[in-house]
Amino acid sequence: MHPQRLKNRLDHPLKKDGSHVLYWMQQSQRTENNFALAHAAKAANALNVPLRVVFCVAERFLDANARHYAFLLEGLKSLAASFKRMGAEFLVEIGTFEDVVVPHMEKAALFVMDKAYLRHLRAVRDSLCERADSFSLRTDEVESELIVPVEVASDKVEYAARTIRPKILKRLETFTEEAHLPTLRIKKAFDPGLVEAPMEDVIKKLSIDKTMKKSFYYHGGEHEAKRMLAEFVEERLADYHRSSDPGEDFTSKLSPYLHFGHIAPLTIYQAVEERLAERDVPPHAAEAFLEQLIVRRGLAFNFVYFHEGYDEFEKMTLPWAYETMERHLDDEREHLYTLTDYEKEKDETHDEYFNAAMREMKRTGHMHNTLRMYWAKQIIRWSADYKEAYETILHLNNKYLLDGRDPNTYASVAWCFGRHDQGFEERPVYGKLRPMVARGLERKFDIERYVAYVKRL
Ligand SMILES: Cc1cc2nc3c(=O)[nH]c(=O)nc-3n(C[C@H](O)[C@H](O)[C@H](O)COP(=O)(O)OP(=O)(O)OC[C@H]3O[C@@H](n4cnc5c(N)ncnc54)[C@H](O)[C@@H]3O)c2cc1C
Repeated sequence: MHPQRLKNRLDHPLKKDGSHVLYWMQQSQRTENNFALAHAAKAANALNVPLRVVFCVAERFLDANARHYAFLLEGLKSLAASFKRMGAEFLVEIGTFEDVVVPHMEKAALFVMDKAYLRHLRAVRDSLCERADSFSLRTDEVESELIVPVEVASDKVEYAARTIRPKILKRLETFTEEAHLPTLRIKKAFDPGLVEAPMEDVIKKLSIDKTMKKSFYYHGGEHEAKRMLAEFVEERLADYHRSSDPGEDFTSKLSPYLHFGHIAPLTIYQAVEERLAERDVPPHAAEAFLEQLIVRRGLAFNFVYFHEGYDEFEKMTLPWAYETMERHLDDEREHLYTLTDYEKEKDETHDEYFNAAMREMKRTGHMHNTLRMYWAKQIIRWSADYKEAYETILHLNNKYLLDGRDPNTYASVAWCFGRHDQGFEERPVYGKLRPMVARGLERKFDIERYVAYVKRL
């Protein structure tokens, strides 16, 4: 593992008399290319103790609802099978992060956690570090969710893709070594408990919105993520440079799996590189895909990591964008809708493309990128003010999309309000923000084909 993936958070000596190595799994919910897991497994072998992996199913977690939890629980089932084969203990409990993780610290020889990027998840790590300190427990944090670690790529908030791109690409090759998971020397069985329980019973115990239902289109888990990846590189990657047309089906749909850590960006990168080496895909198609996976996603992680106000309307975008919104605040809105209108069972606005996007999102838990832009830009046009629009977009995004509450969420929604973008010719309501209108969709894409596809969902 590249040493810059690892941050020693507490420099206590390893406890030679510890009964296990403790890995608290949270961000990287997988076994492959999980550098935190590999690091913990190696340490367990060196100390000749078993590896204990603890997972907390948070009783409530921001605005995650039953749709997100179902996806997460599917992932845990797949993990339990892998850990059984490996001989690592895998303990899954419901509760708060502290209540679930701290009891396993007392006898541990080493505490390992994966790295987080969003504010509240970093705060959980800080507070667990404090608790580990009270046990004089050595604590390591290991990063796997970006190929080039966030602090290696840059040490400040980046202005745009063009400023972060050379920084990431310069270091990319240095970080492409895969994680090696050793065979465990001391194996331990575990009671799968919660993981084997029927999903509905687990969900019943949680304090979350249970009105949202599981997606029947996307199923969680490392195994499923690998299947989706194989299908993508085999069938769609070669045409990815045409993927902005929602009438076509050329995207990977891997974002929920990346969000839940069911797949590593490194695993996806390796699969793409393999196809390139076999000359199975045109280089420009692979490049277009890696631009999204590595540069755009890297920019989003940079944004939430270095920009404190990434999820606050008043702080998320740039001065020129606030100025133009201020100037156009009182412009007449041709149509006015509120969150309640969008939440109605029958989601009909006057705009059939917008309605189709809402339908895709509500039914499947996913939405095509071009439609996400169009959808959010219409909410900006049709809301009484910009702050209301921002909050409506975030609310719907995080409620219905499986990949919501992600660094990409906050960066992409801020992008709709000018962040990482440029000013355009001034227009009513949009001001200098990038406009998006139905005619654009009709001119550039086979939008009717998208509408027909969504009707069949
Ligand atoms: C208003 C709005 C809201 C969005 N909300 C989210 C969200 O909640 N979660 C989320 O993951 N993405 C979000 N995106 C970004 C993008 O739309 C999705 O990542 C993409 O559509 C996911 O589908 P895919 O996996 O098939 O992507 P692909 O096109 O196959 O791309 C591969 C991967 O690259 C990354 N990626 C692709 N596009 C972008 C982008 N524009 N910015 C950053 N990373 C990107 C994603 O991790 C994606 O899985 C949003 C975009 C907009 C405009």
